[in-house]
Amino acid sequence: MTLATRSTADWQALDAAHHLHPFSDTQSLNQTGSRVVVKGDGVYIWDSEGNRIIDGMAGLWCVNLGYGREELADAAYQQMRELPFYNTFFKTTHPPVIELSALLAELTPPQFNHVFLTNSGSEANDTVIRMVRHFWAAQGQASKKVLIGRWNGYHGSTIGGASLGGMRYMHEQGDLPIPGIEHIEQPYWYVNGGELSPHDYGLKAAQALEAKILALGADNVAAFVGEPIQGAGGVIVPPDSYWPEIQRICRAYNILLVVDEVICGFGRTGQWFGSQHFGIEPDLMPIAKGLSSGYQPIGGVMVSDRVAQVLIQEGGDFNHGMTYSGHPVAAAVAVANLKILRDEGIVDQVREKTGPYLQQKWRETFAGHPYLDDVRGVGFLAAFTWVKDKSRRELFAEPGTVGTICRDIFFKNNIIMRAVGDSMVCAPPLVMTTTEIDEMIALAARCVDLTVQALEARGLV
Ligand SMILES: *Cc1c(COP(=O)(O)O)cnc(C)c1O
Repeated sequence: MTLATRSTADWQALDAAHHLHPFSDTQSLNQTGSRVVVKGDGVYIWDSEGNRIIDGMAGLWCVNLGYGREELADAAYQQMRELPFYNTFFKTTHPPVIELSALLAELTPPQFNHVFLTNSGSEANDTVIRMVRHFWAAQGQASKKVLIGRWNGYHGSTIGGASLGGMRYMHEQGDLPIPGIEHIEQPYWYVNGGELSPHDYGLKAAQALEAKILALGADNVAAFVGEPIQGAGGVIVPPDSYWPEIQRICRAYNILLVVDEVICGFGRTGQWFGSQHFGIEPDLMPIAKGLSSGYQPIGGVMVSDRVAQVLIQEGGDFNHGMTYSGHPVAAAVAVANLKILRDEGIVDQVREKTGPYLQQKWRETFAGHPYLDDVRGVGFLAAFTWVKDKSRRELFAEPGTVGTICRDIFFKNNIIMRAVGDSMVCAPPLVMTTTEIDEMIALAARCVDLTVQALEARGLV
């Protein structure tokens, strides 16, 4: 059964009248009206006017399996009939949460054998804040409280997640960050690298962590938190020297290493987890998004043996949890999703075939363009940046102006990619074929040409 069908205009009017959109300026949104998305299949979505749109963002970095997988719908339906809800607080558990926990232990790197489940990536990061402080307090080191994140990092939108993240425009609303959270520079060579080689700059950016730890005192620092590749911050791929140096510093000062895998996890880089792409071994990994391919809201924190042992043997009660932690329907859907990802070899396909193909095509198409630079990416994450002067790595004066014009042109031409400042970012469903990659990049190239025309008309280039 589907919801009653209305005209697009009716839907837009009702939406404008009653729905406040996340991360949106409601007044300006209501003037243009939201696009009403009604259906998805494979790598495409359809709007209420019947337009087919190629989804270069996998929803919001999450629909890894693509739209329309019957197996996931069936898993939800069967679980809802069998046991739609039961909690896991009061000496109870249920088959879906058990199956999911065991499967995650199998699919994650060897140090991970436990998971704490949440309903989102934000809740996973909030859980991290409480868990790392509890971990140190349980060992008599209650002063180890501060978490260090990075400017322009993204860890969600709850008070804890937004504080850990380094989005200044989020901090401005609601007195963030909360106390006990610090930030260091992001490893963004193109903008911050100056004359240094990417390798040397990667080491320098990592050493900002050491300086921060020394300034705070290692006895006061609980953990460092970062995304393997920053997603919402603009698909910023750190130099290869960065993560090993971060790991070395965390170990040297006895600081927990938390790698936020909410975007990079479950195949996005061609490895199961972004930390494997960079060859590091985190102590905790927040997960969400691709965990269910977005078919159900679910997230969690993977807990390494080092941390789990302390929590279990010395932690006593962990006074934390959500009513829907390990929700049976979400867990059943996540299990079905992970089995398909594994059994159909989709992660291997991204690593060996479609990921390298996407990266090569992306570079071939955009790297030679006079106004596009920092053409970058790994696996099924890709980006480029509109720049004023490539020879000097000079960005446009008001970041976001050109990006927004470009994004709107993409959207109008039935292709979805996101603008972050003046970067265009792409994260398609992992099932995208080489033929669909060709189609997506050809359409993107056409939209880039249209953007140049629009910039010329406005005197911006
Ligand atoms: C999306 C995201 C989150 C937040 O997840 P939600 O499910 O939106 O709460 C956290 N960390 C990273 C890296 C993300 O991309």
